[in-house]
Formats: sequence, C-alpha cells, structure tokens
Amino acid sequence: MTSAWLEDVDRTKQVKTHGSLKASYIVLHNTMGGRVTSSIDHLNNHTNGFGYHILIERNGSVFQTAALDRITRHAGLSNWRGWDSLNSFSVGISLANYGPLRYRKTHYENEYGRRMPDDSALPGPVPHYNGARNYEIASWERYPAAQVDACLRICREIVDRMSIRDIVRHDDVSIGRKFDTGPALSLSPFSKLVGDRSAELVNTWKVVTPNDTLTVRAHHSRHGKPLGTLPDKTEVYVLSKSYQWISNRWRIGKWWLISLDGLERTGFVHSDFLEFAEPYA
Ligand SMILES: [Zn+2]
Repeated sequence: MTSAWLEDVDRTKQVKTHGSLKASYIVLHNTMGGRVTSSIDHLNNHTNGFGYHILIERNGSVFQTAALDRITRHAGLSNWRGWDSLNSFSVGISLANYGPLRYRKTHYENEYGRRMPDDSALPGPVPHYNGARNYEIASWERYPAAQVDACLRICREIVDRMSIRDIVRHDDVSIGRKFDTGPALSLSPFSKLVGDRSAELVNTWKVVTPNDTLTVRAHHSRHGKPLGTLPDKTEVYVLSKSYQWISNRWRIGKWWLISLDGLERTGFVHSDFLEFAEPYA
C-alpha cells in the first residue's frame, strides 16, 4: 500500500483507532442517520470508540476519518468464511442512509419518526434477505446513484492498493444482529471488483444427515421458507454463522449461511447436520 490516505477526500474529522491493520476485507455499512458530519460527531461524542475509515454522503462526498492501516471498531461480533471479528481484518465504509422505513398510510418515515420524501424509498414491501427484523418494516431508503458510484470508486482504489479478498455488507457477516446495508444496496457491482479472489477463501463443510436430505431455508430459523434440499455428503461452503440473543448476550446460532459454488449466496442450513471437511485457505 502506497498510502493509508486517499486523495481528494475530506479529512477534517477523525475517529479513534485501535492498533495497526492489514486489511483483507471491506465491510459496507450505513449510518442510520442524516448528514455524514453529524454521524461522525455522534460516533466521537456518544460511542465507546466506534468508527469507520470512510463515510460517504448521499451526494457522493467522501470523508476519510481514519488511516487505512489502523483498526477502527465498525463490525463488532462478526464472522465470514471462517474468520472471526472482522474489525481486525477490514476497512469499514459507511453510507449516509436511514435504513429501514415504516409505512404510515400516506408516506414513509424513518426509525426516528421523521417523514421521508416519497422517492427516497424502495417500492415496498421489501423484506430483508436474512428475514425481517419486525413486521413494521415496509421499505428501505434508497442509496442515490452518486453515493453508490463514489463508494465503488473508493472500493476500487482500496482493492488496487491492498490485497482485498472480499467486499461484504455488515448484515452478511453479523447475521441476526445487523441489518445494514439492507436490500437497497446491491452487492454484485462490489463483488465484481474483487473478481474470483473471494473464491480462494473456502470454508468447506459436508452434509451429514440421517434423513438423507437437509433442507435449505431462506431465513436463519426453522420457520424460513424452504428453498430446496441437499443430499447426504454434499460439500457446502459456510459463508457466515448467524447470531442469536440468548441469556443476555449474542452467541453463534445454529443456522448458517451456506453457498454451494463458493460464490453465490444460497441459504441457511442447520449446523447440527454439517461436519467440517477441510480448513479454509
Ligand atoms: Zn454496520
């Protein structure tokens, strides 16, 4: 990496960092808020050392709040392809966005009860890909094209400078705990930036079931819609283990997100019927 700071970005505000970082991943978030500058002030004044490396305004303005070779606390409890605690391995980028929106008969409002412009919402109802957090969620704030384009440009620059193996969303790596960036942001243009580098990172398990087949579900619970079944001894790649809130803390849950070809998101299976097949690369 030539420099831990990007060119042509606003560096006037900084957040607390926590040791040196050699990043293999980029984790995408949203701020659940209005303007980026107020989100940075909130992080600095009201949180215990949380922060991102980069924040991007709805109009595409980019703020870098930490050097890319320093750890920031943005992902918390998280896992991806066998790696735990992504903070120690990742750059965190957050997009200004309110996330989930409720429908109030004539309009959408955000989690703070503020009315949102009609064109700012995805046409609802739009469930979250890991299952809705509650039944009031009707839609999600859109990410404007200028913001997504700026994020893609920044990600490309970071992928070129550092050996980034995968770009993921917070809710891909903290399943059950987090809902950002949510369904309004498509991951596929970001995945294209890393190409098949992500396929090197396999975490192979084998289906072991007394019932001959294992059901793959859309959500991380037995109530998830069945998507299909896998025969005994099928090799699967575990992308991420979900989390469950049990006895006042988050623990690894029984439902794990798997993929069959190492690249595509596939669905959730119950981990009692998986056996570790080989270490990840
Ligand atoms: Zn997040």
